[in-house]
Order: sequence, then structure tokens, then C-alpha cells
Amino acid sequence: MTKEFTPQDYVKELSEDDLLAVRDLVKYFPIRRSVLDVIARRRQKFVRAVDHISFDIKKGVIFSLVGESGCGKTTTGMTLVRLYDPTSGHILFKVDDETRKKLDDISGGRIKFYDGYVDLAQVPSKWMKPLRTKLQIIFQDPYSSLNPAYRIRDILMEPLVIHGIGDSPEERYEIILKALEAVKLVPAEDIANRFPHMLSGGQRQRVNIAKALLLNPSFVVADEPIAMIDVSLRAEVLLSILDLKEKFGVSVLFITHDLTIAYNISDYIGVMYLGKLVELGSAEQIIKNPLHPYTQALVAAIPIPDPNRRHIIKDIRIKGEITSAVNVPPGCRFHPRCVAFDEHPEIQARCKAEEPKLIEVEKGHYVACHLY
Ligand code: SF4
Repeated sequence: MTKEFTPQDYVKELSEDDLLAVRDLVKYFPIRRSVLDVIARRRQKFVRAVDHISFDIKKGVIFSLVGESGCGKTTTGMTLVRLYDPTSGHILFKVDDETRKKLDDISGGRIKFYDGYVDLAQVPSKWMKPLRTKLQIIFQDPYSSLNPAYRIRDILMEPLVIHGIGDSPEERYEIILKALEAVKLVPAEDIANRFPHMLSGGQRQRVNIAKALLLNPSFVVADEPIAMIDVSLRAEVLLSILDLKEKFGVSVLFITHDLTIAYNISDYIGVMYLGKLVELGSAEQIIKNPLHPYTQALVAAIPIPDPNRRHIIKDIRIKGEITSAVNVPPGCRFHPRCVAFDEHPEIQARCKAEEPKLIEVEKGHYVACHLY
């Protein structure tokens, strides 16, 4: 019989600088059944968006999740900040004494703590408010995430009022100006009095970063924050995200499909494929020594801006399109697209039948593939 791990067991594995530990996290979305399906008693199907993943995020680091659209990276981010309720698993998050006291007050002492960590997966939504200030998200679309009817100062005032930060409107306004200056939106008073349509995409996204900063978070999910911004404005947004880590000590989960950006901005990278983490390590390890055939394909696809070196992109080691997250292939879910599978007939039976586990192949570098 396999042992059922508890949050207390997981906390024992953590070190002092671990802010967040995800263990065996699952998020499935049920597919709506038709009347015919119900009458015929067809089995309920699920989109297996996130399927038993585990990783840690340390304090003050940027951890990037990379992979193709539909691999489950955004669902992971939304679940970590509890915009989605997890189907199962644990999200251990370290809280300070003040947040712990607020959680005790709001729940009447019914929330459990494990050596300073709270399991976000176990906190009912009605008690999440004290944690909302600590967990923030920056959405991909800077155009629809700011209400066009309000000035920037009013948009930024709202979360301060909701969470009771600042004793007076004047004090709150001062906090807003400081947050705008922190993301280099200056003169801050001028920006604060503008409407969103008066700002560029990059400026809007920095308003969103300022909005996240206002509440003094310890963990921010940045969900493809530059995907919808002009190339010329991307650098300023990336620098603001780097500042979250370097100046404010915030840990960031940076979601992207662009491995080059992940390498330049991150300390650690996790590669996701069809709801699973297939490789995990430092940014250097993932880019300079990719082990999983999928990561190798992603690294091979990084464009080289030199026409004389185009021949280097010679070997895109991947076949076809990402498979549906409803009908996940058995065994290794990458096997229908894996070139290494074709090249290694000796492991094909295993690839088709057995799901590879994430194993450590060098210090801090994990891969889920039967080749290792
Ligand atoms: Fe390819 Fe097999 Fe490794 Fe999966 S386990 S990535 S199919 S070699």
C-alpha cells in the first residue's frame, strides 16, 4: 500500500527559503455532458489541465513555467493563487505572523498551519481574503484588465480600500504614487490622473504590476505579461518584473511560451507538457543541457538572429501537434510526438505503457523520461 503524504510530511522536506511548495497538484475541468450522454450513462470526461505536478519556489526568485498553448501553465498559475480551486493536491505557502493572525481571526482558528505554512488548497474561498494581498496575478491582456471608465488612481485605490490599507484617502494616494514610481511610471501624478486609453500597452502592463505591488505581496503570478505588448515596449515590462524580485524580494511565477525570455529572466525553469512537468532545473541547466526530448525540441526552435548560422536550426525534434488534454495518451503522454521514441525501439514498450516519473539526474535537475 502506498503511503498517503500529509502537508506535515511535505513541510519536513522544505528548507527555510522555500516560499511555496506544490505537491501532487491536480486541476481537472469536467466536460459538460449532453442529455444523450447522461441517458446512455457515458463516463464523465475531464480536461486534465494539470495532472499531479510538484515543484518548489524559493523566496525572491523568478520561476518560469514554459510550454505550448494548452499545456496547463496558465491553469497552474491561476490555481496557485486560488482563482481556480484545485481538484486535489497541496499548495504549501509560507505566511508571516500578521497574515497568520488575520487567518486565525477570519476562520475562528479553524485554518491549520504546518510550521509556518498554510495549505492554500485547504483554505475555503470565504477565508482567502487575508491571503489575497500576499498572492497576486498579472494578466496577459493589459487592455481589458484595467476598467476604461476610471482614472488610474481610482483603479489603484480600489484594492487599497478593500483591504483596508492606508488610513485616509491622502495616505492611499501617496501609496499609489510610490507604486507608480516603483515601476518607473513618472511623473506619477500625471499617470495617476490619466485614463487607461491614454497609456501605451507597456505602460498599462506596468500599472498592473504597480497594482500587484500595492498590496505588498510575497508571490506574484505573471501570466504571459508581454505577449500582447509591442516588441519595443517589452523590455520595460520585463525590467519591472525583475525589480519585483530584486528590489521587493517577491517570488514570481513567470508563465511564457518563449524559452529565450524565460532563460533571460528566470532563476529556475519548469517545462510543462500536457498537464505534466517534464523537466525542471536552473535556467542554465534547462537551456545549456536540456534532457527531455520535448525540452530539446523547444531549445532547438530558439531563433538565432544571424542568417549565416541558420543551419544550426536543423533538427526540430518534434512531430505533429499537442494532443488533446481530454484523451491523454497512455504511458508517456509525449510518445506520439517524440523523435527519441522512434530512435530507441528498446524502450518503446515502456514509453507506451508506463508514465515516466520526474527523477533527479544531477543536483537540482529533474527529468521525466525513460531514457534516464
Ligand atoms: Fe520520448 Fe519515451 Fe522519453 Fe517519453 S519516455 S519522452 S516517449 S523517450
